[in-house]
Amino acid sequence: MTVAEHEYPYLLPQADVLTKPFWDALREHKLAIQECGACGKLRHPPIGVCPECGSEAIAWRVMNGRGTLYSYIVVHQTALPNWRGSVPYNIVMVALDEAPDIKLYGNVVDFDDAQLKVGLPVVASYDDVTSEDTILRWRVVDPT
Ligand SMILES: [Zn+2]
Repeated sequence: MTVAEHEYPYLLPQADVLTKPFWDALREHKLAIQECGACGKLRHPPIGVCPECGSEAIAWRVMNGRGTLYSYIVVHQTALPNWRGSVPYNIVMVALDEAPDIKLYGNVVDFDDAQLKVGLPVVASYDDVTSEDTILRWRVVDPT
């Protein structure tokens, strides 16, 4: 069940003109990554000028959502009051299978933190945390 934005106890995305398409795609349960409209180079986080060719043409590519756990931490202590009831929790960095240079942060859900390890296959999961906001999470792909 989702809640209204003012009821959600954690930080919410603050979209700007460059990042809004990313957040809008998540609302549709799609993972879209910005790409250069001229040379096709994928990049994240979204920026206004292609570092490869200098073009300001922007496009978006919907990815298949599959990735590999690149790095992670498990937080056991936090100074953030709203998060104190949530520890321990993990924060992961995922390399996309279709674009390993692209790394995305998030949390692996429904998985034992003690079993996290670099190289685990994961897939994007879309958490509708409010009626207006969807957060990108990750689920470990069962290898069986
Ligand atoms: Zn380019």
